[in-house]
Amino acid sequence: MTVGPVSQPPALRALTLEEKDKKYLWHPFTQMKDWEADDILVIESGEGCYLKDTHGRRYLDGVSSLWCNVHGHRVAELDQAVRSQLDKIAHTTFLGLSSVPAVELAEKLIALSPPGLARVFYSDSGSEAVEIALKIAFQYWSHSGRPEKKEFVRLTHAYHGDTLGAVSVGGIDLFHQIFGPLLFKTHAAPAPYVYRWPRGGSREAVRDAALAALEAVFKEHQSRIAAFVMEPLMQGAAGMIDQPAGYIRRVRELTRQYGILLIFDEVATGFGRTGRMFACEHENVAPDILTAAKGLTGGYLPLAATLVTEEIYRAFLGSTAELKTFFHGHTYTANPLACSAALANLDFFQSRGVLEALVPKMALLEKRLESFHALRHAGDIRRVGFMTGIELVRDKQTRQEYTPEEKIGIRVIRRAREKGAVLRPLGSVIVLMPPLGISATELETLLDITYTSIQEVTEAP
Ligand SMILES: *Cc1c(COP(=O)(O)O)cnc(C)c1O
Repeated sequence: MTVGPVSQPPALRALTLEEKDKKYLWHPFTQMKDWEADDILVIESGEGCYLKDTHGRRYLDGVSSLWCNVHGHRVAELDQAVRSQLDKIAHTTFLGLSSVPAVELAEKLIALSPPGLARVFYSDSGSEAVEIALKIAFQYWSHSGRPEKKEFVRLTHAYHGDTLGAVSVGGIDLFHQIFGPLLFKTHAAPAPYVYRWPRGGSREAVRDAALAALEAVFKEHQSRIAAFVMEPLMQGAAGMIDQPAGYIRRVRELTRQYGILLIFDEVATGFGRTGRMFACEHENVAPDILTAAKGLTGGYLPLAATLVTEEIYRAFLGSTAELKTFFHGHTYTANPLACSAALANLDFFQSRGVLEALVPKMALLEKRLESFHALRHAGDIRRVGFMTGIELVRDKQTRQEYTPEEKIGIRVIRRAREKGAVLRPLGSVIVLMPPLGISATELETLLDITYTSIQEVTEAP
């Protein structure tokens, strides 16, 4: 019997990583139809403020890997801290046990957080930190003999995360349209958005009008309001909407006056982003509850914290039968690797004088941003510390917005990518949020790329 050549099936060409991504994955906040049609970057490594893709191309990390990276990538001290912890143990539960780095981190966090905050409740993401803040506020009033105080006040445009409680206190219309039936009702107060305040006016006039509207909500519903939740100084995901000076100080006075807990969501603004460790320090005010996440581990690992006052904490103490326990927690709560990264991050702030080193870089940013006013479609340029938003408009005179179909933000960041910087827009707002550790030269490069990308895309004939 003769055996002929066995015909082999044509060798299957190995799929590239890009192809496998598009075959197997579903990305967050992404229209996957567009994703599948686009060229995508697959990041393989990073060094300092640069990301490197699988083709060996380098990009400046212009938004700190979505606002969380602090000192750059592959920082020796942080790498070493995680490695050392790995040599001890990667994870143990925080339900019924404690761990060394979790305790040490809590002590450090309380030491550097605004006065009055005395207890740390860990979780894994900013959204969860906010969920926890809401549940604590709600339960606090229940234990304090005021169970009718169970409603929340929020600002328009607010973003506090994407889980259902966090979306309920958020003000992003897109989410409310689709998930509306699943959300609890909240009271909205207008954000002091100076550039788009309906009747216009100075920063002070807008601040005072926004505060008056907030006070009206407090006055009408105070007996039923548990807490007011807001991002101090800068509403990030809203499109980098900064608040006029004096706004949060007055918010603190009003919440006290009306017996309402104040929750500052510092998930984006915390850990040096605004030039101080926490944004609320700029106006010397402290909330009753503070949420932190993004920069907590220097952008290394998922970890979040909800900080509360001793008074709030004490309201949860009682016998088991009293059911005052805070029934909340996750499998990976207080993961030791993440806590050790966070500890090294906070040490780095001190040992390297990170906030001091930021001062000249913020001045450089401010100076260079002035030149952006020459761009024909840069309507408003907003900056707090190292958080910047450039709102692009179709018409500067009338402040007419671009339509979503024009995808102006996406087009600008695509151009920036060709020029070697990774950015991510918020609608038609171009966000600049580099790691605090960026060098002056790199910052100049990032600004050059951003400027020419905006100019080429918006001023093309
Ligand atoms: C990013 C963000 C959140 C949500 O944090 P995740 O870690 O993405 O869940 C909450 N609040 C603010 C202010 C944020 O910027």
